[in-house]
Amino acid sequence: MKILAITNQKGGVGKTTTCVNLAASLATFGSRVLLVDLDPQGNATTGSGIEKSQLKNTVYHVLIGNKTIADVTQKTEKSNFHVLPSNRDLAGAEIELVNEIGRETKLKVALAAVKDQYDFVLLDCPPALNLVTVNALTAADAVMIPMQCEYYALEGLSDLVNTIKKVRTHLNPTLEIEGLLRTMFDSRNMLAQQVSAQLVNHFGDKVYNTLIPRNIRLAEAPSYGMPALIYDKSSKGAQAYLQLAKEIIERQTAKN
Ligand code: ATP
Ligand code: MG
Repeated sequence: MKILAITNQKGGVGKTTTCVNLAASLATFGSRVLLVDLDPQGNATTGSGIEKSQLKNTVYHVLIGNKTIADVTQKTEKSNFHVLPSNRDLAGAEIELVNEIGRETKLKVALAAVKDQYDFVLLDCPPALNLVTVNALTAADAVMIPMQCEYYALEGLSDLVNTIKKVRTHLNPTLEIEGLLRTMFDSRNMLAQQVSAQLVNHFGDKVYNTLIPRNIRLAEAPSYGMPALIYDKSSKGAQAYLQLAKEIIERQTAKN
């Protein structure tokens, strides 16, 4: 089982879009995938076709120790992966966990119980470096950083890299940066091209070859509660995430 934290403290960079579409794409290639929604906004939950306001149990109940992952996980209706859903309840976890012993390792411990059931676990992090994100970084084998190729993107990246270093020192010594993913990419935009070139210069083969283009289908699909792969398989967005899944599986096979 490979646990990937999809994270960037910057909002709206495509974390959730990546989680949902990558989960569906990996599943298409036969991987057993669990998507863990760690954001109280619950966008990954809704985008996977699960009605978030109706949920009795969510990832919140797993983090505070009342439920196991198996208790709470749901199968998506329209595609072939599992979701550990979230909703506003999760906003309370931050405060409730503060005085708990092992507060940073709650997710890691919970995931250990399902390690034989999944090939990939994707953790959809909130746009913050809070305790829930630290739980994700502590549980993860590696981090995937979606980012838009904009002027301030590199600046934000150094904060994240510093956080990853701290987590390595204190909580998870083997945490790796799996890769940087260029999202909402517009190749006609000169600045995007320049930032992209800088990224490759600085991070080398940590930057995925696959580029995710700006594509309206990716933005539309969540309102129908489905990944772009189901909504419009031939769209450039859906095809890009299939390509990314392939790249990740190939990297994984090269490692093993
Ligand atoms: P947050 O930090 O709020 O959790 P996020 O990083 O998870 O945001 P998303 O919710 O995935 O980002 O994307 C932000 C917005 O951009 C959404 O409306 C989404 O539909 C849209 N979007 C994401 N990726 C693409 C893309 N490649 N092309 C077009 N629209 C996109
Ligand atoms: Mg999100």
